[in-house]
Amino acid sequence: RPREELDAVDSVCPYCGVGCALTYYVDRERGAIAFAEGRDQPGSQSRLCVKGRYGWDYAASPQRLTVPLIRKDSSYPKGALSADVRGDTDNDRGRAGAGGNRSGGGRGNKLSKNGRDGRRKPGGLVDYDEVLPHFREATWEEALDLIARRLMEIHAEQGPGAIAGFGSAKCSNEEAYLFQKLIRAGFGTNNVDHCTRLCHASSVAALFEGVGSGAVSTTYGDVANADVVIITGSNPTANHPVASSFFKQARRRGTKIIYVDPRANTVAEHADYHCQVKPGTDVAFYNAIMHEVIRLGLIDMEFIKARVSGFEELVRTVNDYPPERAAQITGVDADLIREVARVWGEADAGVIYWGMGISQHTTGTDNARCLIAMCSITGNVGRPGTGLHPLRGQNNVQGASDAGLIPMFYPDYQGVDLDATRRRFEEAWGTELDPDRGLTVTEIIGSVLKPGGVRGMYMLGENPFLSDPNINKVRKALSQLDFLVVQDIFLTETAEFADVILPASSYLEKDGSYTNTDRRVQLGRKVMDPPGQARVDWEIIQDIARRIGLNWSYASPSEVFDEMVELMPSYKNLRHDNLGLSGKLYPNEDPEHSDGAVVLFDDRFNTDDGLAHLVPAQWLPAKELPDAEYPLVLNTGRLLEHWHTGSMTRRSYALDSISPVAEVYMHPKDAADRGLSHGQVVRVRSRRGAIELQVRISHREQLGNCFIPFHFREAAANLLTIDEIDPYGKIPEFKFCAVQVEAT
Ligand code: SF4
Repeated sequence: RPREELDAVDSVCPYCGVGCALTYYVDRERGAIAFAEGRDQPGSQSRLCVKGRYGWDYAASPQRLTVPLIRKDSSYPKGALSADVRGDTDNDRGRAGAGGNRSGGGRGNKLSKNGRDGRRKPGGLVDYDEVLPHFREATWEEALDLIARRLMEIHAEQGPGAIAGFGSAKCSNEEAYLFQKLIRAGFGTNNVDHCTRLCHASSVAALFEGVGSGAVSTTYGDVANADVVIITGSNPTANHPVASSFFKQARRRGTKIIYVDPRANTVAEHADYHCQVKPGTDVAFYNAIMHEVIRLGLIDMEFIKARVSGFEELVRTVNDYPPERAAQITGVDADLIREVARVWGEADAGVIYWGMGISQHTTGTDNARCLIAMCSITGNVGRPGTGLHPLRGQNNVQGASDAGLIPMFYPDYQGVDLDATRRRFEEAWGTELDPDRGLTVTEIIGSVLKPGGVRGMYMLGENPFLSDPNINKVRKALSQLDFLVVQDIFLTETAEFADVILPASSYLEKDGSYTNTDRRVQLGRKVMDPPGQARVDWEIIQDIARRIGLNWSYASPSEVFDEMVELMPSYKNLRHDNLGLSGKLYPNEDPEHSDGAVVLFDDRFNTDDGLAHLVPAQWLPAKELPDAEYPLVLNTGRLLEHWHTGSMTRRSYALDSISPVAEVYMHPKDAADRGLSHGQVVRVRSRRGAIELQVRISHREQLGNCFIPFHFREAAANLLTIDEIDPYGKIPEFKFCAVQVEAT
C-alpha cells in the first residue's frame, strides 16, 4: 500500500533511554502497522536502531492477554508451572535446553480472540496451554472488586506495610504518577518502586548526594562540544545505539574517546584508549586517575574553591592509589592510567557517560561518587561539552523516577521523610501519608519471606521472576504472597504466580508522556485500540483507586500531567499541548519558544549550599570472588536485538529471528581450557542454580570472565546471580558473581 494511503502517527520508541522519535505508518484497512520511520528531533535526528525500526509487531501477537483472569485452583501451588526455570544445583529436573522452551512455549492464548496467527513459534516463552487452565475468565467488575477487597483485607489485618507495588518504566509518566499515588494515598505505605532499582539506583543515590539532582547534567548530543569523553561500564552500541552513533560522529570530528570497560565491546574499536579494567575495580581505577590528575596539577583549583566541598578528604583518599597499585588491582597498565589521566586533566571540556557496568555493583554508589569527583575536580560540569550522564536503560526510567515511583521520594525527588514536604503532598492529595521511607524492589522480595512482611502486591508491567537476582529466592517469595495482582500485556513468568491477571495496554494503544535519558519529555500517541477487553493502564489504576475509596476523576492523561506539574518544580511550565512533536527538555522556562536546558549547574549545584559534595571511596572487592569450584566471573546484560525479560522482543518476528538463542560468551582460552567449542551446549552453574545454553567464543571477553544476556527464560541468567545489594542505592550485583562452565 503506498505511503500516502497509510495513516501516520508520531510517537516515541518504547525501548531504551534514548527515546528516539518515530512515526508509525498504519494500514487502517488491515488494522496493522506497515512500517516505522525515524523522525527529526534534536536527540535522535531521524535515526533508529533495529529495535525501534522493527520491534513493534509484538503488540499484535496472538498471545496478548485480552480478558481479566482469576486463579481458580487455589490448591495448585503457585510457580509450579515455571519448574522449567528452576536450575537447582542439587536437582537437575526440568531444565530446558538451549534454543527453546522444552514445554513448547508460544502456542497462543486460547482466551485471546484477537490478533494474527503466529507466523513463527517463539521459543522460551510461558506455555499458555499449561498455565491458562488454572485461571478462569472474569469480568472487569469482578476482577477489580476482588483486587480492592483482598488488598484492603490485608491492609486492615496486617497494616499498610503489608502492601507493596512494583510499577514499571515501560509505563508513561502519568501512569507512574498515578500508581505511586495509589500506593501512597490509597494504601498508606511508601512500599512502591520500579526497575530503576535494578539499573541506576546507585547512580541516582550518588548524584543526589553529590550534586543534588538525580538527572543528567548534560545531554548525549552535547558530546559534540566535548574535547574528550569517558564512556564507562556501558556497551552503547547494543544498549543505546542511537546515542552511540552521536559518540562515533563526535570522534570523527576530533573528540577523544576513553573507553573503560571489562569487555572489548564495539565502541572500543572507535575509542582512542580502551582501559580494559577487571570487573569490580572501577573505584581503584578512577582513584588512580584522580591521583595522577592532582599530582600533575591538572585540577581546576578556581572551580574547586568556588563550587566544591570535600576536596581535601578526596586528596587524602586518592593518595593511596598510585598507578602502580591501581594497575595491580585493575589489570590496566600503569602507563596507560597515567596517559588517560593526562588526557582527561588537560581537556578543556569533558563528559562522562556511564552505564550499568558502573551502577550494578555492591559498590555502585561508590563507583558513581568517583565519576562525580572526576568531573568536579577538573571543572567539567556546567559548561557545554562537560558533565555527568548516566545513560538510562529504559525509555521512561527517568520519567518514572521523576514521577515518584521510588520508595524514598515523592514526585521530583522530594523526600517522604521531610515533614514540610509530606504536609504539602498530604494537602494536595487530601489524605494522611506514611512518614517513613518504603521498601525497595530488592527489599520487598526479602520482606515477603519474613514474618510480618509484605503479604499483598500489585505488579504493573514488571517481571521480577526473570529480572531480579537469584530468582529461586524470588520464586519462593512470589509463591508465599497472600495475594498478587499482575497487570501486563502478556502472561509473563511472574503472572504465573498471580491471583488476578489484568490485560493491560501496550504503549501503542495509549497516549502519554515519556522522559528520556536527556530529560526530554515527549508524547507517545495512540496508534491503535487495545485488543479484546484489554484496557489502558491509567484507567485501570483509577478504577482500583475509586474502589478503595479515593475520589479520583481524571478524564485524560493530560489532566494527570497538569497535576504532576503542580507538584514537580522541575517540570514547571510543561503541558501536553506545549511539548510539540519533539518534546521538551526540563527545566524549561519558556517551552513555547525554547527546547529547554541542555546543560545544568552553570552557576550552582542543586544541593542546599550550592556546592558539589565529594564523597571519597575506598576500593572494595566484590562479595563473591572466584575460587577453585567457581573460577569464572559472570557478567550479565543485554543484546542489541532484545529487551530485558524478552516479553516484547521475543515476540517480535524480526528481532527474535536475528537473535533466537541464549548463549554464554567466553574468552577463547577459557573455552579451550574446558574443551568447549563454539555452539556447544554447556552447563553454567553458580552457588544458586544452573542453566544450559550454547557457547559463543568471543574475543570481547577478558580471560576468566563470561557474559550471559538475561533475556532468555530457557536459560535464565538470574538463576545464577547473587542478591547482594549496594548499601546506599540498594541495587543488586548483576555484574559480578562466581560461576563454572562445563560440558553437559
Ligand atoms: Fe529505540 Fe533506543 Fe533504538 Fe532509539 S536507540 S530506536 S530509543 S532502542
